[in-house]
Amino acid sequence: MECDHCFVWGSPKAGGVFTIEQIKNVLAEAKNLGTVDFVSLEGGEHFLYYPIMVRAVEEAVKLGFRVEVLSNCYWATSPEDAVEWLLPMAKAENVELSLSSDLYHGENWRIEEVENAVKAANDLNMKAEILSIKYPKAKVSCPSEIEGAKVGLYELMYKGRATSKLAQEADKKPWREFTECPYEDLVDPERVHVDPLGYVHVCQGLSIGNAWQKPFSKIIEEYNPCENPILEPLIRGGPVALVEKFGLPHDEFYADACH
Ligand code: SF4
Repeated sequence: MECDHCFVWGSPKAGGVFTIEQIKNVLAEAKNLGTVDFVSLEGGEHFLYYPIMVRAVEEAVKLGFRVEVLSNCYWATSPEDAVEWLLPMAKAENVELSLSSDLYHGENWRIEEVENAVKAANDLNMKAEILSIKYPKAKVSCPSEIEGAKVGLYELMYKGRATSKLAQEADKKPWREFTECPYEDLVDPERVHVDPLGYVHVCQGLSIGNAWQKPFSKIIEEYNPCENPILEPLIRGGPVALVEKFGLPHDEFYADACH
């Protein structure tokens, strides 16, 4: 898929996927840190690399991590079939599903494939929750549950493809208002993203190092945002401070701080 709001520019044309060796490297490094207890598998859509995704879950469970598997459920063509896809992961207790269902992933808030996946998860006693992104001009309101799975409704962030596909139509505010980062704790981040190229992101697109060049645990242990030319102004005064520090060209109005 190529959802309009995707902040990692997910697409059938996008390249790059972890190898099992790279997955084991990052998981072992995360274990070394001693502070990491939760691993989330996200994409793109990693069910496209199904055996590698299942292996990643198994490796993470073996190391004692709680594991979250995100998906758009394209594979859940019926509840019975969905059971077959989920079965290998259902054996482990601490594996939970976060499934995308909203007006960016489909025509309705309730997407049939997601309903199938939740029915299968219920049959397999797997924990499943729904991730939905707010849709400014939605005519119908977002449901609170799908097949018993709680729906979490999150802000639309104008990052990635949302800046080119959605920001145009969005209500705007004067650029000077964006004096803080609304979504990430850049001083003391509790979560980072690692991509198949090895980049370690504190926010999608903000890299603090490359885990294929320096051990992941070392990148985290040496994290000092005040010495980072991008993070220092973002922490001090949001995107406005970033613009002022480098005298960057900018428009007068933006949809949000991320934009
Ligand atoms: S303001 Fe920047 S750093 Fe903060 S969440 Fe948005 S894109 Fe990320």
